[in-house]
Amino acid sequence: VHELEDSGLHIAGRGSSPNTKGKWEQDAAIMDGSNRRAGAVAAIQGYKNPVDCARAVMKHSQHILLSGKGAEKFLKKRDLKTIGNPHGYYRPIISDASYDDGTHGTVGAVALDSEGRLASATSTGGLTNKPPGRISDSAQIGSGTWADERVAVSCTGQGEYFMRVNAASDVSARIRYTRSDLENATACVLEEISLLGGQGGLIAIDRLGRVAMPFNTSIMKRGFATWRGEFDVKVF
Ligand code: ASP
Repeated sequence: VHELEDSGLHIAGRGSSPNTKGKWEQDAAIMDGSNRRAGAVAAIQGYKNPVDCARAVMKHSQHILLSGKGAEKFLKKRDLKTIGNPHGYYRPIISDASYDDGTHGTVGAVALDSEGRLASATSTGGLTNKPPGRISDSAQIGSGTWADERVAVSCTGQGEYFMRVNAASDVSARIRYTRSDLENATACVLEEISLLGGQGGLIAIDRLGRVAMPFNTSIMKRGFATWRGEFDVKVF
């Protein structure tokens, strides 16, 4: 996620668009499914890698989500890269659309390690033309980011819909309570979002390494890699 933020190819990190007041406010979250520790930042300004800031909250704070000035004060004590001149650093990947159609989007990663531990992270510059203080689903554990002992999920799309469905943790709830498999659980969550009129997608991996990446936008850039050397990247 750190690399994707730095690439400037997505609406996260360097590619983020400013809000309606011309400021760059960033959101990110990270969750370790093996112990359910989590950290998140919302509406922070001046940090190069919001996902590293989320990790710092997970590691060094007793809280989960820190926002705005309070978060920035907490982060100041950590060894995190800052941005001196936002106008010189950010290269907004889109500037005129009120909603990204999935071409660029939020960035996220989900992972399963060799000991069966799952983890998830998401980072976003948020919706283009968002108002100051608006917080995305990406920063909210349960809505846009989730990992537990069953599944790791990271979402992208119109965050308000993902919050209303509590999308990321609902994938786990469906697996747990209805004994759905990953494909079915993710499809059902996306269907709920569609029924409300929302657009987006998600990436998910379960404890057996099964991957699902459904979306209802025209495209969603996505990929996977395995220890066996399998590797694939898709757009459509
Ligand atoms: N989910 C993000 C948000 O609501 C946007 C995106 O995924 O493109 O800010």
